[in-house]
Amino acid sequence: MQDDPIRPKEKFLMFGAPAIEDDEIEEVVASMKSGWLGTGPKTARFEDDFKSYKGARHAVAVNSCTAALHLSMLASGLQPGDEVITTAMTFCATVNAIIHSKAVPVIADIDPATMNIDCAHVEKLITKKTRAILPVHFAGRPCDMDALSAMCEKHRLKLIEDCAHAIETRYKGREAGTFGDFGCFSFYVTKNIVTGEGGMILASREEDAACLKTLALHGMSKDAWKRFGDEGFKHYQVVEAGFKYNMMDIQAAIGIHQLKRIGKYWERRREIWNRYNDAFSSLPVEIPADPEPDTRHAYHLYTILINENASGVSRDSFLNAMTAENIGVGVHYMSIPEHPFYQKTYGWKPEDYPAAMSAGRRTVSLPLSAKLTDSDVEDVIAAVRKSLKM
Ligand SMILES: *Cc1c(COP(=O)(O)O)cnc(C)c1O
Repeated sequence: MQDDPIRPKEKFLMFGAPAIEDDEIEEVVASMKSGWLGTGPKTARFEDDFKSYKGARHAVAVNSCTAALHLSMLASGLQPGDEVITTAMTFCATVNAIIHSKAVPVIADIDPATMNIDCAHVEKLITKKTRAILPVHFAGRPCDMDALSAMCEKHRLKLIEDCAHAIETRYKGREAGTFGDFGCFSFYVTKNIVTGEGGMILASREEDAACLKTLALHGMSKDAWKRFGDEGFKHYQVVEAGFKYNMMDIQAAIGIHQLKRIGKYWERRREIWNRYNDAFSSLPVEIPADPEPDTRHAYHLYTILINENASGVSRDSFLNAMTAENIGVGVHYMSIPEHPFYQKTYGWKPEDYPAAMSAGRRTVSLPLSAKLTDSDVEDVIAAVRKSLKM
């Protein structure tokens, strides 16, 4: 017990606050002064840079990972009633993208140790209507891609990876997002690198990438964005009823510079991760499993599981206590079947996905941004101890 309670941190530590530096600020200002704010040369450069970073064949920038997922579903040629299997432990956007493509979402439980989709459960859920598997590399830890790729090959399913947590993730020497047909990335403000809002799709086939580009910009024919450039006016044709999902150059201006620091930010988050592991291993909470051999974890989320029986503190009172200590926390996530829409529409019940339910009701994400100073990290640790009444 602490005789002399530590006073709360002076200023609220925002969860997932991005590290923004002068280079991207100047690049955004330059974009604004140039007058070219929308999709243009910087978006094309960011696509190229990201493609090189991942060693991927094709990259299409969009305005969110949600858009990336939706377009990947559509480009997969799903028909109404086709089934897509995903995980019960993910952000709602993963499931909603399936629904918006008029396919039927089917969810699998998770492996409680890794929080990733349980491949044995996936295998049991495959039916004649299954067309695709949509795994999520949870917190940045790669899924068992050997098992998932083998299932996709055997049953001729599309493989679409939700890499929102997994920009830096590798599995047995291969980059996350390059295993199957599509890999979808997020540059939302809390993600490993940011563009404010933003996303990227990696595609393994050229015709798929062309289809994505068309769908992302109103269904207009290829390179329609160039119509206002200095190469002369070009007529475009509308070949699909597309969407308005294109990335702006203002967003790409941020991303280009963020991407240069991806290794440095990753190192810093790994350092914080290891410091948390040391600090929490003796507390009555569960800490994340170590990364598996021959993989690279992206260290996107540091999640602890509250064990109310051991600590006497419930998850929600822990969340409130941390906030009272001025430390921002997150919940990633309440399992998908906890939400009323999915219960009502698909009849899903949390108890039918017990590992995801248990994790979702016990999990807390602690700040893990490259922006944190050493003293921020020590403040988080002190607040965790105090909130657990240690
Ligand atoms: C953040 C997130 C998304 C959505 O990303 P946006 O860029 O905000 O649309 C999708 N899936 C997962 C797992 C996420 O964490």
